Amino acid sequence: MNKEELWQATLAQLQFKLSPANFATWLKNTFILSKKEGTLFVSVPNNFSREWLEHKYNKIIFSAIRSLDSEVREIRYTVEKASQKPREASPRSMAAPQEDQMEFPEFRVDRSTNLNPRYSFDNFIVGPFNELAHAASLAVVKTQGSVYNPLFIYGGVGLGKTHLLQAVGNQIIKDSPQKKLKYISSERFTSGVVSAIRNKNVDALRFLYRELDVLIIDDVQFLAGKDKTQEELFHTFNTLYEAGKQIIFSSDRPPKAIPALEERLRSRFEGGMVADVSLPDYETRIAILKTKMQEKELHLDDEILDYVASHIQRNIRELEGALNRLAAFSRLNSGRIPALAETKTLLRTVIQSPNRVANPKKILQAVAEFYDLKEKDLMALSRKKEVVRPRQIAMYLLREDLKGSYPFIGKRFGGKDHTTAIYSCEKIARELQSSEVLVDEIALIRQRIYSG
Ligand code: ADP
Ligand code: MG
Repeated sequence: MNKEELWQATLAQLQFKLSPANFATWLKNTFILSKKEGTLFVSVPNNFSREWLEHKYNKIIFSAIRSLDSEVREIRYTVEKASQKPREASPRSMAAPQEDQMEFPEFRVDRSTNLNPRYSFDNFIVGPFNELAHAASLAVVKTQGSVYNPLFIYGGVGLGKTHLLQAVGNQIIKDSPQKKLKYISSERFTSGVVSAIRNKNVDALRFLYRELDVLIIDDVQFLAGKDKTQEELFHTFNTLYEAGKQIIFSSDRPPKAIPALEERLRSRFEGGMVADVSLPDYETRIAILKTKMQEKELHLDDEILDYVASHIQRNIRELEGALNRLAAFSRLNSGRIPALAETKTLLRTVIQSPNRVANPKKILQAVAEFYDLKEKDLMALSRKKEVVRPRQIAMYLLREDLKGSYPFIGKRFGGKDHTTAIYSCEKIARELQSSEVLVDEIALIRQRIYSG
């Protein structure tokens, strides 16, 4: 058997052992590069599938190969172009996969779901801060298209929105591989619409989306001001919705707070189930750390866990980042666990980074970004409602979070009088008593200030 035949025969066996979806995702575009003294080098399209094959499927691949070629003692998966010489698989990357790494063209073209199998319900920790969003997501898996449609999940950065959306997708495909499902970021959705318009093949694009059973669009706050895209989405939404197909959105803020969003689309976003994820409480942070520790086969003592969980409060991605650093330390020190003093040093940049602390610049930036304005709009004299209110909120945050004096605040906003500052802060403080929407908005702005 030559190496092509060997691999074909192996794949033929594996086909019966994996679900069709997994088989297509993980084994597409793989081939044998070479065999050297019992080591078989298998080329895989990217690091992500390498990790997955090494850690999840190596056993069954190995036993399939062994049944065909008893000389093979080990398989190495490498990310190589066909023309290059095989070399040893590089050590596992220490960093967690980034979000961007999820979208591999080869998966997208062939499988067209864009899902990353790393996100599942199994490895999603539920606590009071996300249980509504979690329960709604599970319900959507069971009742697709009928009960919570659309499902709209919102919350700050790094709190698990993408994870949940993708877990829903992965679970649906696992239950019914024949379902047509697409996960897409709103930026990619937008660029698809833009290029379809440019290339005059909008019909093809419509067809692509409208034949889906499940459409998942992540981070729809980025649709702000994109009129053509909003229009396409509106029509696609209606078609899918009327056909009883499930639609899921995420955003960093509730529909009401997305600026420059067509009213009819906003009301669609709000028309099903809107669920938020807020900040994880201490117990959940510990639970998340413990779970991720197991995944990484790392064993930190409670004292260290407590230190990490007490100091990183607003972003689950950062909790993971901290663990990755500690895991890297342990790997470099032959498995030794860092002591508390070492942990503090290792995490100093994460924990004491200037990011953790607010300053006027960051507040202005966060507010301007949140309301899709320029910072200088906040300073200007404009009395337009779209500007006045964000300006008042920024003043309020300067007062509340930085204890700025009213004259200072007035000056910071283009030399306004301190009475303007007083009026603004009091107005927002008063409204906060009665408006839940405003409470949410300010919480989300604060998440930006303190996590970004
Ligand atoms: P968002 O989309 O809200 O910015 P992500 O879904 O990308 O956040 O989550 C950031 C990281 O934290 C991911 O690696 C994700 O797997 C992890 N994560 C978030 N929430 C949870 C959770 N409840 N349980 C386990 N891991 C989580
Ligand atoms: Mg996300």
